[in-house]
Amino acid sequence: MDISSLLNPLNKAQREAAAAPPGHHLVLAGAGSGKTRVLVHRMAWLIRSQGIAPVNLLAVTFTNKAAGEMRGRIEELLETPVGGMWVGTFHGIAHRLLRAHWQEAQLPQDFQILDSEDQYRLIRRILQNLNLDESRWPPRQAQWFINSHKDKGLRPQHLEEGTNPHVRQQIRIYHDYQSHCERSGLVDFAELLLRAHELLRDHAHVLQHYQNRFTHVLVDEFQDTNAIQYAWLRLLAGHQGELFIVGDDDQSIYGWRGAQIENIQQLSRDFPAIRTLRLEQNYRSTGVILAAANAVIANNTERLGKNLWTESEDGEPIQIYQAFNERDEAHFITERIHAWKAQGGMGADTAVLYRSNAQSRIVEAALVEAGIPYRVHGGLRFFERAEIKDALAYLRLVTHQNDDSAFERIVNTPPRGIGERTLSQVREHARQAGVSLWQATVQLVAQQHLPGRSATALRHFHSLMERMATDIMGLSLPAQIESVLDHSGLLNHYRKDRGEKSQSRLDNLKELINAASQFKPEDPSLETLSEFLAHAALESGGTQAEGWEDCVQLMTLHAAKGLEFPLVFMIGMEEGLFPSPQSRNEPGRLEEERRLCYVGMTRAQRHLYLIYATRRWLYGSDSYPQPSRFLHEIPTELTSEQQPHIDIIHPGGAPQPTAPVSSIDGFRIGQRVNHPKFGEGVVLNLEGKDNQRRVQVNFIQGGAKWLVVIYANLQII
Ligand code: ATP
Ligand code: MG
Repeated sequence: MDISSLLNPLNKAQREAAAAPPGHHLVLAGAGSGKTRVLVHRMAWLIRSQGIAPVNLLAVTFTNKAAGEMRGRIEELLETPVGGMWVGTFHGIAHRLLRAHWQEAQLPQDFQILDSEDQYRLIRRILQNLNLDESRWPPRQAQWFINSHKDKGLRPQHLEEGTNPHVRQQIRIYHDYQSHCERSGLVDFAELLLRAHELLRDHAHVLQHYQNRFTHVLVDEFQDTNAIQYAWLRLLAGHQGELFIVGDDDQSIYGWRGAQIENIQQLSRDFPAIRTLRLEQNYRSTGVILAAANAVIANNTERLGKNLWTESEDGEPIQIYQAFNERDEAHFITERIHAWKAQGGMGADTAVLYRSNAQSRIVEAALVEAGIPYRVHGGLRFFERAEIKDALAYLRLVTHQNDDSAFERIVNTPPRGIGERTLSQVREHARQAGVSLWQATVQLVAQQHLPGRSATALRHFHSLMERMATDIMGLSLPAQIESVLDHSGLLNHYRKDRGEKSQSRLDNLKELINAASQFKPEDPSLETLSEFLAHAALESGGTQAEGWEDCVQLMTLHAAKGLEFPLVFMIGMEEGLFPSPQSRNEPGRLEEERRLCYVGMTRAQRHLYLIYATRRWLYGSDSYPQPSRFLHEIPTELTSEQQPHIDIIHPGGAPQPTAPVSSIDGFRIGQRVNHPKFGEGVVLNLEGKDNQRRVQVNFIQGGAKWLVVIYANLQII
């Protein structure tokens, strides 16, 4: 492709950005204006027109998925594979630097990555060792304390002890946690970034090498960088490197995780020569969706300000649906998706977005019931499922015997008679001798100090792990995994388990072998198993997303950043859920919630549904929330509001809050019933008690209706 046709798919402002002359550039522009597209074209243009070698480019994106797509797009534009170009997330790139320079970074060569759940478990153990009561010292709080300081580049020794006993204790926990990680060669997510930063800062020759190599550093979604990521970028860019940064202050949604929107202003102070470019035309959404999103974000005061317009047609109004409850909300979604598919729409073009992960469950249940395939991104990621983590923990312990969190996870999974008492002895021994749990096990087994039964169980575990380590030597990665699944007893354990989840667990374990067969390490010179384990820890749902089935996409609003879908549902648009309860009295947090709403709305290309329920079963109790203030911020002429066809007679006043029930008067979900007036239908929901017992029935003619059982005269057929 020649150079002019390379820039052809861009408008004038985009072209000026993609083909800007040498120097630092900041593209500050609203959602859907083509920032990511410009960044990709910039890279292709640098390679093709400026003769920059791909190895001289470093591109940073927000998710692994985005990184993969970016590489694919560039190769498509250049019509050739580009090797040697670094495209990844901050964490992925930091990991790569640390693997390459483990000695300078003072890490063992086979250091392991601790994901947030492992980190949590480790912190709980540290608290136990310090004899701290979890109710007074919640592990999540300690986890937050540790990570937020690491994100700011602060180690325990940098923190002022001060006089506040609470802070002093947190520093002590941080300190003990960190020494444990150092001893065991464990690196948590925040540590990846911090250490990679220290590596560059403290080793002039390493920094020099990368500064010489990366003449061009490009960053997408810059508004969500934190202090340490920014410091890292500054170091890498040095005096010669050229920055090409794209971002949108209105989409900064990770403040709660330490992202600093101020980095945008800081950039202009640190690089005074930087040119700011604007893109104003939105190509993603209809006029109505864009106008509504603009109206919502206009309520924020802390904005750099921008103009966003579109040439697209207005499209249909935004549909607001007032659901009766969360099950009606879920049912409404399945109905719409059926209709969408009936008109030839794809499930994969549909996204259901929610504020909190827990909201997915009911939607999932409704989708299953309706036979609509779906995929959950984030939260329940493949590599986070318990059985997968069990399998990986075996592999981690085999390759890295000092990995205490892996040890804890599988020492008695599947159950092999190693009880809490024995484990406490192992932990105590480890603590006193300053060794890992595995070494403690080895020593205890050798000393033969344990009572009979525990000794046998522990000895058995010890020899099992030894055998496993020899068994997998020289095998291919999928064969290694297969061997571990087999010998660990995990497969058998789930085969024997009659629980409702056991089949899907077995399927997942098999899928792990598939994932291993398809795995290609980024850097072929590194050892495959360790690379695979690192990939698993860093993975953000990629394996799920690569399935062949046409799946509806479920994810949190946060996870939807940068993506787009023709049809979008935003659910739970209620005060106390979205905006979240914590943000209501804090203006700064409320603005962040509003930005999140803006991100969600601007994911929609053609159809946007905003749903709220008038009652919701939330965190174990019934509530009657108010519609979200964000709904009121949308001009009414842009919306059209619908309500369910509820046919309820309320003898004796308003309905009472009730918990979901599984059967009423012999009616069950899924049962076929007949009504004298509405005809045949299927029971969708049941709730209430006494004379307020209600069933929701989806009638073949007339759709879903709520009926009070004692008046409805329903017949089971
Ligand atoms: P976000 O802020 O959500 O990350 P963005 O600014 O990165 O959005 P892109 O994802 O790059 O925007 O682009 C939005 C959509 O508009 C994409 O489908 C993209 O292909 C399309 N698009 C961008 N520029 C043009 C153009 N000049 N002509 C046609 N389509 C375009
Ligand atoms: Mg983008």
